[in-house]
Amino acid sequence: MSDAIETPQTAVPVRISNKPGVRGSRGHPASMGETRTACIRTFGCQMNVHDSDRMRRMILDAGYAEVHSYEEADLVILNTCYVRENAVDRVRGHLGELNRLRREGRVKKVALTGCIGASGESADLQRRYDIDLVLGTHNTYELAEFVGLPTMRETYTPDLPGTGGEHSAFVTIMTGCNYQCSYCIVPAVRGRMVCRPLENVVEEVERLVASGTRYVTLLGQTVDAWRHDGSRFCDLLERVADVAPRVWFTTSHPSNMEDRTLRLVGEKGTIVKRLHLPVQSGSDRMLNIMHRGYKAERYRRKIGVFRDAVPDGTLSTDIIVGHPGETEEDHENTLRLVQDCAFDAAYIFKFSPRRGTEAAGLGDPVAPEVVQRRFLQVLRAVEQNAFARNQRKVSCVEEVYVRHGSTEDGKAIGETWSGHAVHVRTDARPGDYVKARIESAGPHVLYAGEPIA
Ligand code: SAM
Ligand code: SF4
Repeated sequence: MSDAIETPQTAVPVRISNKPGVRGSRGHPASMGETRTACIRTFGCQMNVHDSDRMRRMILDAGYAEVHSYEEADLVILNTCYVRENAVDRVRGHLGELNRLRREGRVKKVALTGCIGASGESADLQRRYDIDLVLGTHNTYELAEFVGLPTMRETYTPDLPGTGGEHSAFVTIMTGCNYQCSYCIVPAVRGRMVCRPLENVVEEVERLVASGTRYVTLLGQTVDAWRHDGSRFCDLLERVADVAPRVWFTTSHPSNMEDRTLRLVGEKGTIVKRLHLPVQSGSDRMLNIMHRGYKAERYRRKIGVFRDAVPDGTLSTDIIVGHPGETEEDHENTLRLVQDCAFDAAYIFKFSPRRGTEAAGLGDPVAPEVVQRRFLQVLRAVEQNAFARNQRKVSCVEEVYVRHGSTEDGKAIGETWSGHAVHVRTDARPGDYVKARIESAGPHVLYAGEPIA
């Protein structure tokens, strides 16, 4: 799961109001006066993007118009990530700027939501900055009352309707996490795993597809741990893949990933053939210290099953470098695993101590210059592999799903069925498919020519 998102998102079809720079409300003016405006800023993973979609729905229903700059906003919602310390630093910077805008009489209200809201850190932030509302990940529904809507019912399983009508939508199938990885704050801020009933998920997907959604991403911290009433993740994925024209899922945990799920990815034409399976380390000693619950060999075996079942698929992972106690030998083992698995992409993180996690109290830190060197070595190894694998795609004709329409340079961003990101010269709209020949490739992206008629 990528955590590098920090962007205002628009996921609900909205009417454009007359106010310049303003995305209009859906016709529920809050007052007879000027339209109130709100800006949502999202930090972190797809779960947060999806939570922001739900909050966006609430503010639009309450008559707010969405804007994308703080200067234009009456209400600013910072929906935050707490996974690494630099995420908190960034939010502090935003809160400082918002304090200044408040003093100048521009921004009127600030809400802090998401994982920082659910953590002890929020009390410190409230002491230092002007914040009107703090919500964690379990009580996002309280935003409704704050923006003037009727009080909503508490819901641990997020079965609020998705963002119907858009070409792609996230569908949360479970919340929380039952693992206790040494370094990770997620169980503390998102709680234990709660799974949505199968029929409830399938109904939401059917509704979305009926309203125009063409791409459904199933979400969960350990999405493949989903189970309900005797059904397991593979059963749910198969049902969804029968209903939706295009499906992906993230993030998976190696201990929960069943071989039959990997085979299903290869068999079902509607599932994007891309697996994101975070490994974190290639050293059994570190995997044990991290409480990951598997050994490197088991991970390699799973990847073998995936490569056999989905020969043209792409594989990505998460790796942490510099966890307390990581030795040179552990690092060498990670480099070896990177070579063996030939990842197409990896999110590589330098260990960041999170207050309240086991790893933060372990001692035996790795020196920053060593962490930096290891980070670059892993990055280089991943990029070399990815570049070589992407080169094999040059001159192939691919069916590309357009995810983001073209910008000024005339290039749209799309995705192949094997999960490669592609830049393609087309004015096709998001949700359309185009066929194009791959002309060149870098380590992260393929570049296609004009679509083939
Ligand atoms: N549930 C997913 C899993 O177990 O693979 C990961 C969710 S976590 C939000 C995303 C990634 O952030 C993790 O896979 C891990 O690599 C990284 N991460 C989490 N805590 C971290 C920490 N304290 N320092 C550095 N990276 C961290
Ligand atoms: Fe965090 Fe581990 Fe749960 Fe992933 S599986 S969310 S890394 S505790």
